[in-house]
Amino acid sequence: MDRKTRIAVVGAGLGGMTVAGFLQRAGFAVTVYEQAPAFSRIGAGIILSANVMKVLRRLGIEQMVIEKGIKADSYISRAWDTGETMYKIEFDSASEARFGGAYANIHRGDLHAILEKGVAPGSIAFNHRLIALDESRDAIRLVFENGLKVDADIVVGADGVNSKVREYLLGPEPPRFSEFVAHRAIFPTEALRGIKIPDCTKWWGPDRHILVYFMTSKRDEVYVIGVVPRPTWDSDEASLPSSREALIKDFANFHPDLLRVLAVTTDVTLWPVYDRERVDRWSGGRIVLLGDSCHPMRPFMAAGGAMAIEDAAVLSRCLAEFDEPAEAYRWYEATRIDRVGDAQRISIENSWMRGPTDTDWFYCYDPCVAPLTRPA
Ligand SMILES: Cc1cc2nc3c(=O)[nH]c(=O)nc-3n(C[C@H](O)[C@H](O)[C@H](O)COP(=O)(O)OP(=O)(O)OC[C@H]3O[C@@H](n4cnc5c(N)ncnc54)[C@H](O)[C@@H]3O)c2cc1C
Repeated sequence: MDRKTRIAVVGAGLGGMTVAGFLQRAGFAVTVYEQAPAFSRIGAGIILSANVMKVLRRLGIEQMVIEKGIKADSYISRAWDTGETMYKIEFDSASEARFGGAYANIHRGDLHAILEKGVAPGSIAFNHRLIALDESRDAIRLVFENGLKVDADIVVGADGVNSKVREYLLGPEPPRFSEFVAHRAIFPTEALRGIKIPDCTKWWGPDRHILVYFMTSKRDEVYVIGVVPRPTWDSDEASLPSSREALIKDFANFHPDLLRVLAVTTDVTLWPVYDRERVDRWSGGRIVLLGDSCHPMRPFMAAGGAMAIEDAAVLSRCLAEFDEPAEAYRWYEATRIDRVGDAQRISIENSWMRGPTDTDWFYCYDPCVAPLTRPA
């Protein structure tokens, strides 16, 4: 595509920053419009598997992620009551060679700060909340809450689960509350007073689960995310304050190894878990969607961010390779939709690495070089 094409990316999240970084490297003029006034170190961790690390490597930021976060040495699934190990996967030099990368955990705020280094300085416009789009024959106009209007040739909707760009493309439709909520907590490892924990453990209960992992290479910061069923969510807030007591109550019958960890949690917050039904239309006219804007999924496979980053890698390849946006979008959708659909299905099943699991199709994939799929 003509490198003079003006590309507006809406949303400086994981997918938006990645696609901007790649498109800028390919020679496009890209501006990212972000509603937030700045990035903040919000309290949550994220798991990045080898398929993502390969993308970060191409952006020149893999090593920074490994240094700021942690290369987990293993992932363990344990039964909530007996503590029995249901599945364990070692991450060592052999697995890195096999998957083509590490399995890293990191604080989201730290990941954002690193992703920002992957985009051209000055190309993120903060305080720009998109409120409307207006597409004409020659351009697409973005209208922001701050009064600014900008014309672009194409718009990449990377604006997350409540995407305004998706609304323009597909019509208004709120995301689906999954009837699960997530307690999230972060605390310093020293609070454990010498109790040893593995790098990454998922505890599996009958109707709930909880993950505990380190987020830093010094293993000095621990993240806990405990998911429990809840029939409704009545608040408009993205999250609500919660408490250690509420978290412990929801996992009261779990194994003592877990309860010893929960006993020292601090800064507990409660988050609704949303997703959407699978929709296989991610583009139209001058617009294309990626990440949570087109396929938000339950975080039970730890794959939503990974899929957004993979989308970004593939979309940028398609835009660089094909002459017309519509053709690029068709190749992008053909390459991405089935793989993302599998991740959506597995996330709903909550079956990933519960027991012996074929992980190769997911971790070995390299979205930067995997063959693109010819559209039907
Ligand atoms: C509890 C929980 C745990 C998770 N754990 C993991 C994990 O371990 N691994 C993993 O891979 N994934 C995980 N995920 C999923 C992951 O967080 C998302 O899938 C990922 O952030 C999606 O990236 P994105 O770029 O599409 O959207 P986001 O990262 O949500 O970014 C969207 C951006 O758009 C901005 N924006 C929104 N509306 C507008 C607007 N109108 N104008 C301008 N800007 C706008 C937002 O401020 C935001 O910066 C988890 C999700 C949850 C809820």
